[in-house]
Amino acid sequence: GREWHLVARPHGWPTPDDFALREAAVPEVGEGQILVRTRHFSVDPYMRGRMNDVKSYTPPFQLDRPMDGGAVGEVIASRSADIAVGDHVLHGLGWREYAVLDAARAAKIDPSLAPLSAYLGVLGMPGLTAYAGLLEVASFKEGDAVFVSGAAGAVGSEVGQIAKLKGASRVIGSAGSDEKVKLLVEEYGFDAAFNYKNGPVSEQLKAAAPDGIDVYFDNVGGEHLEAAISSFNVHGRAAICGMISMYNATEPTPAPRNLALVIGKRLRLQGLLVADHGALRPRFVEEVSGWIRSGALKYRETEVVGIENGAEAFLGLLRGENTGKMIVTLAD
Ligand code: NDP
Repeated sequence: GREWHLVARPHGWPTPDDFALREAAVPEVGEGQILVRTRHFSVDPYMRGRMNDVKSYTPPFQLDRPMDGGAVGEVIASRSADIAVGDHVLHGLGWREYAVLDAARAAKIDPSLAPLSAYLGVLGMPGLTAYAGLLEVASFKEGDAVFVSGAAGAVGSEVGQIAKLKGASRVIGSAGSDEKVKLLVEEYGFDAAFNYKNGPVSEQLKAAAPDGIDVYFDNVGGEHLEAAISSFNVHGRAAICGMISMYNATEPTPAPRNLALVIGKRLRLQGLLVADHGALRPRFVEEVSGWIRSGALKYRETEVVGIENGAEAFLGLLRGENTGKMIVTLAD
């Protein structure tokens, strides 16, 4: 089977030359293991951090070894009593056509409840990030005015809609194209949205939230975080989820330059890691799948077809070519 390797550590923006698609023998299926044929794998912003050789909350990718990450597929061989041939599973060995792993490291998923790809997005890791980040980390409460950046992405689009469904007084989103902005307002029900490329974020946020904001869900960092700090009402709370504007930076960015406002406004800025919030998963799946069934929560996916386009899909994600979750689908 084919698998993607990282072959060079990018400095700044990654390029296609940093990746190679290679042929590898599919390992023997050992006792207690399963063989999964990949249907979809996930490309995610956090993977950019794993391309650097630095100690972090997830270990770096190793050069000339298969990359990994979320994937879903069908079990085609099994030496486990728990998972049978024909079952569908979610697991962590993405970026390859075939995965062999211990059955204990795979979770069975039901393709009759939701399309398989949804388990990588709206009902998966990004969805739980949105749910836990808003409700637990940012301590969202009814009546809050909420600002979310990266709002047309997998996490951001779910944050904004959950906030609306839970009684936010106003939801504002920012995204990187006029088309995405239109989608936020017309399809996802945001009260206001703006294209951060059309002018200074702080001015656009002030215009969109004249009465200030109570919660900021940060996917972007830098100028967006600075703008949120300016627009915060007293006792505002930020869930610091990601800082994608800085992932390819080679120099530290100066913003936010207004951190001193944290004092007078008594702000709380709290980092979040989705891995800490597994206990919330059953409630998240139940509530969000209900909203999806009723049509109250909508989602998009951007699907790139063919394993050979995997690296391009990842690069496209960093450039904002996705609306909703970026998914790589393997051809039949
Ligand atoms: P998205 O689906 O949001 O895709 C990434 C988006 O980022 C792009 O579509 C692009 O949209 C936007 N973007 C790229 N560069 C910039 C920039 N310079 N300034 C502003 N926006 C930019 O990805 P996810 O929903 O998967 O992830 C969103 C964020 O959440 C990321 O920062 C990620 O690292 C973080 N995250 C954190 C987790 C945690 O546990 N802490 C777990 C999961 C995700 P646009 O066209 O709008 O620019």
